[in-house]
Amino acid sequence: MKPVVALVGRPNVGKSTLFNRITKSRQALVDDMPGVTRDRQYADTQWEDKAFTLVDTGGFLSVDDDYFAAQIKAQLLRAVEQADVLVFILDGRTGLSPYDRDLADLLRRTEKPVFYLINKVESLYSQENELGEFYSLGVDRLYKISAEHGLGVGDFLSDLVAMLPDAPAESGEQEEDDDNGPIRIAIIGRPNVGKSSLANRLFGEQRVVVNDKAGTTRDAIELSVNRNGREFILKDTAGIRRKGKVLDKLEKFSILKALDSMDGCDVALILIDCSEGITDQDITIAGYAEKRGCGAIFLLNKWDLVDKSEKGQQAFIKELRQKAKFLAFAPAVTISAKTGQRCHKIFGEVEKVYKQYCHRINTGMVNRIIEDAVYRDEPSLHKGRRLKFFYAAQVAVKPPTFVCFVNYPDAVHFSYKRYLVNQLRQMIPLNLTPVKLYFREKT
Ligand code: GDP
Ligand code: GDP
Repeated sequence: MKPVVALVGRPNVGKSTLFNRITKSRQALVDDMPGVTRDRQYADTQWEDKAFTLVDTGGFLSVDDDYFAAQIKAQLLRAVEQADVLVFILDGRTGLSPYDRDLADLLRRTEKPVFYLINKVESLYSQENELGEFYSLGVDRLYKISAEHGLGVGDFLSDLVAMLPDAPAESGEQEEDDDNGPIRIAIIGRPNVGKSSLANRLFGEQRVVVNDKAGTTRDAIELSVNRNGREFILKDTAGIRRKGKVLDKLEKFSILKALDSMDGCDVALILIDCSEGITDQDITIAGYAEKRGCGAIFLLNKWDLVDKSEKGQQAFIKELRQKAKFLAFAPAVTISAKTGQRCHKIFGEVEKVYKQYCHRINTGMVNRIIEDAVYRDEPSLHKGRRLKFFYAAQVAVKPPTFVCFVNYPDAVHFSYKRYLVNQLRQMIPLNLTPVKLYFREKT
C-alpha cells in the first residue's frame, strides 16, 4: 500500500500542471461540464526511491452556489480523510481568496501533514510584496514554486518524501504461490449501482476484522466470509455497508474511494446498473481496475429490471465488450443484488479468476510457448535486422508477469507483443486475468 498524497486547492491554481510535472505524464486534460467537478486523476510515482500515489483532487468551477459549496466540502473532506499527506496549492498571481482561507481552516483541523505551496512564482524578487499576504495564513513554511517551469518543485518533493513512510516492497518476486490464502475483493462502481446491497448479500453474516496494520490512518475495517473452505475479505471502505451518510449522497464517485477499496485487492467486482445502460463513468471506473492490474469481474446488476431475453443479455454484453476492450479478460455475470439472482455464482467466479491471477508456470513451459509462437509467426525485420528471442521466464504472480530477453527490446511492435501475450493466455491458460509482458535486452 503506497502512501497517498493529495493535491488540493481552488480551480486554476495549477494542480494539474503540478500533477503532470511530478508524474511526467503529458496526457491531455479534459475540462468537463462546468459546474461540478472534473474527473480526478491519479498516478503512482516516486521521488528519490520513495514511492507514493499522487491524486489531483480536481477543480470546482463554482463556489458561490450553496449546493456546490456542499459538494466541494464533501469532496474535500473525503480527500482529507483518505490521503496520508495533503498539499495545498495557492496562486501567487491572484493572491489569497476567501476560499483559500476556508480551506486553510479546514486543513488546520486535520492531524495530517499539510504542505503549503505558492504556485506561479516565476520570479522570486518581483513578487515578494504580494506574497506577504500568504503569511497571514499563519503557516510555518511556504514553498514557492512554478509548476509550469519546475522551479522549487524538487525541493518541495524532497521534503515531501522525507515525511512518507517507506512503501512496502512491490508484491511479486518474493511472493509464494498462496493459492489457498484469503482472496481480497473490492466492490467498485458509480453511486447507486448497488454496491452496498451486494456487500450485504455477500457478507451478510460477516465477521468483522480490524486490520491494525501499522502506519495506516485510514478506515481499515474488513469483512470476512468463508465459502467452500476459502476465506474472502472485503475492505469496508467508507462504510460500504453503512448507509445514509449524507456525504456519500452528495459526493460524485471519487477516485480515492475506488483506489482505496482496490488497495491490495486481488479481484475487483465492477458493478454496472443495467437499468441505466453502460455509461462513460462505468467505463472510467473499469479503467481504474485495469490500471491497478488486479483481476476483474463485471457484475451487471439490477438484472431484474431489464429485458431478460437471451437476445437482450447478449446485446448488453456485446456493448460492454466493445466499450471496455481493455478488460476483455474480465468475466461478466448478470445478477440482481436485490433478489439474489445468480449472486451465489460470484464467489466461484472470483475463485476462478484468482487462480489464474496467482498462477505460476515453469520456465521451460514459458520458453516453449514463446519459441513456438515466434516460429509460427516471425516478427518483421527491425532496421533490416532480425529480432531474436533468447529466453523468457515468469518473474511474478498477481498478476502473472513475464520477461522476454531479446536483442532489440524497442523493436518489438505492440501488435507483436499482443500476439505473444495472447499465445501465453491461450496456452497456459491465462484468459481470465491481466498478464504483463516485458522485453529486456539480453546482456
Ligand atoms: P488546476 O485547475 O488547479 O488544476 O490548474 P491548472 O493546472 O489547470 O492550471 C491553471 C492555469 O494556470 C493554466 O493556464 C496553467 O497553464 C497555469 N499555470 C499553472 N502553473 C503555472 C505556473 O507555475 N506559472 C504560471 N505562470 N502559470 C501556471
Ligand atoms: P450503492 O450506492 O452503489 O451502494 O447502491 P445501493 O446498494 O445503495 O443501491 C442503490 C439502490 O438500488 C437502492 O435503492 C437498492 O435497493 C437498489 N438496488 C440495488 N441492487 C438492485 C437490484 O439488483 N435490483 C433492483 N431493482 N434494485 C437494486
